[in-house]
Amino acid sequence: MKFNKNLENIENYEAGKPIELIVREFGIKEKDVIKLASNENPMGTSKNVQKTIKKNANKAHLYPDDSMFELKKALAKKYEVDLNNIIIGSGSDQIIEFAVHAKMDENSAILTSGITFSMYEIYAKHLGAKIYKTTSKEHNLEEFKEIYEAHKDEIDIIFLCIPNNPLGECLDKEDVYKFIKEVDADTLVVVDGAYNEFAKFKDVKKGIDVRNLIFEFNNVLYLGTFSKLYGLGGMRVGYGIANENITSNLLKLRAPFNVTTISLEAAKEALKDKKYIEKTLKNNLKEMKRYEKFAKKHNIKIIDSYTNFITFIFKDKNSTEIYDNMLKKGIILRDLKGYGINAIRITIGLPYQNKLVLKELKNTLQIIDKMQ
Ligand SMILES: *Cc1c(COP(=O)(O)O)cnc(C)c1O
Repeated sequence: MKFNKNLENIENYEAGKPIELIVREFGIKEKDVIKLASNENPMGTSKNVQKTIKKNANKAHLYPDDSMFELKKALAKKYEVDLNNIIIGSGSDQIIEFAVHAKMDENSAILTSGITFSMYEIYAKHLGAKIYKTTSKEHNLEEFKEIYEAHKDEIDIIFLCIPNNPLGECLDKEDVYKFIKEVDADTLVVVDGAYNEFAKFKDVKKGIDVRNLIFEFNNVLYLGTFSKLYGLGGMRVGYGIANENITSNLLKLRAPFNVTTISLEAAKEALKDKKYIEKTLKNNLKEMKRYEKFAKKHNIKIIDSYTNFITFIFKDKNSTEIYDNMLKKGIILRDLKGYGINAIRITIGLPYQNKLVLKELKNTLQIIDKMQ
């Protein structure tokens, strides 16, 4: 059977391994598996949100409110924007898909950083579009500008991942503004803020002011998600915020009821849970230091991280070997070999998890040293 030929160039997105797989493969008890592979919130689902989910269990037979009025209202209040500036998706992944499909075709191109979130590229490939990447792995706006100037006719979307997954670095807000000012009004700039709350908590210079951004620039789409800080990865809720001209066009691609009734309720409740959010942010920043110290001691290269993960870059050891070794011990991390870098990404966990991860990592590094 023949399929769309663009599909031949697409590799499946490799998600972090699920806990169930480790239980099956290595016979480790579910409660003993540590998963720090997908930047989920290590505090677990907030208790308040759990209550809301249970309370709404009797609404599962009803289609959700397709206007998503309540959640939009809550987001509009949080960001001080209008309801019409917001589009809600099944994860912000879906908003990326809408943006690419709304703006591009096989003759256009996207521009991204050398190593960044792979869904930008995957969606562009759906359309047979071209991918321009900077040679710099981390975001380098000078190089973005050069490539953009050289291929302006083709480039329809520029993706800025601020801060960047999977490397963790983060551009300064001011530099982002300066850069966008020089982009043509017809080029869409997607500012992916999946970890923006973490960045802002660490350094205010990195925090994007969403309202300001979208009112100043008519060609910017900001993306946010409930999957990371808000601890709702399994609920699949994300959103885009932009000028109404953008959101109304993206909305044309949205299937009705693309977010579940219970997910909408959970997300609305999650926004209110200030204690959970603060605890998450504090734990993250504090526990990050444990990893930084370890890296320094063991001569592992790191990039200053503004996210809820840290990326260890290895010189003389194979990241895949390290990853496999950790997996056998029931610790799921993320090998970045597939991204073209010899590195492991570790989501910052709870203190006991981080201690265990670093203890096992130390052992693993020693074992590999002995074999070499
Ligand atoms: C996790 C993530 C997303 C989206 O996650 P969803 O679960 O689809 O909301 C988007 N961008 C980046 C950079 C991410 O890391």
